[in-house]
Amino acid sequence: MRVPMIAGNWKMNTTVGEAVDLVKAMRKELDKVSKVTKVICPPFVSLVPIKELLKKSSIKLGAQNLYFAEKGAYTGEISPLMIADLCEFVIIGHSERRQYFGEAGEIINQKVAAALKVNLKPILCIGEKLEENEAGKTEVVVVEQLRSALAGIDDLDGLTIAYEPVWAIGTGKAATGEQANETISFIRGNIAKLYEHKIAQEIRILYGGSVNAANAVEFIRQPEIDGALVGGASLKATEFLSIVTQTAVIKLQK
Ligand code: PEP
Repeated sequence: MRVPMIAGNWKMNTTVGEAVDLVKAMRKELDKVSKVTKVICPPFVSLVPIKELLKKSSIKLGAQNLYFAEKGAYTGEISPLMIADLCEFVIIGHSERRQYFGEAGEIINQKVAAALKVNLKPILCIGEKLEENEAGKTEVVVVEQLRSALAGIDDLDGLTIAYEPVWAIGTGKAATGEQANETISFIRGNIAKLYEHKIAQEIRILYGGSVNAANAVEFIRQPEIDGALVGGASLKATEFLSIVTQTAVIKLQK
């Protein structure tokens, strides 16, 4: 059985002080929820103090990005080992990285490989833009993103995929549960083609895009959806906690 996951992507929000306060506001209640993998991905500058705060907690820490080189003259970048020292997870290929920082196929592939090499668990984001969706190209786009991100990678152990339709991210306009379930089922089918049926059945695939406490159930109750990557709503302690709690209730009924 796949363990459900709720991951919070804080994006470029919170100062160190605000990040510490947010963790303190949700840590105790989140720790009461078991059997759901709970991940928070604060900005880089807050990872050190938050790691300290989470020492005895079941909440896992993730970074929002990495650079693929091991070390060296890459001013402003953060290496896989630096992140692995602090975090268990790392988000790779988020649509905002693709859109604003020009990240695409080969770079994302190098980042996934570099993360796995140091035992970081990537949360690989894939998803189509609005015009691609409207042109009926969702499946072509996600399969191409999947293939290029995983090229040459034999072992997917530790990898989570997040299907995030770009038109649903930060817009308040989520996909429907059925739409998301169908595309995630398609993604799983393609993992089976690229790897094996067993690997496809084991891999965790999340939905992301305007998930909040009010609509989380619509996604979580779908059989192919193993949880959510949550942006805006993960910055509110009560919202995030509610999504995690609802996930535990729904997934553990099954
Ligand atoms: C995200 O950042 O991955 C995301 C899904 O954002 P939001 O929940 O705000 O749409």
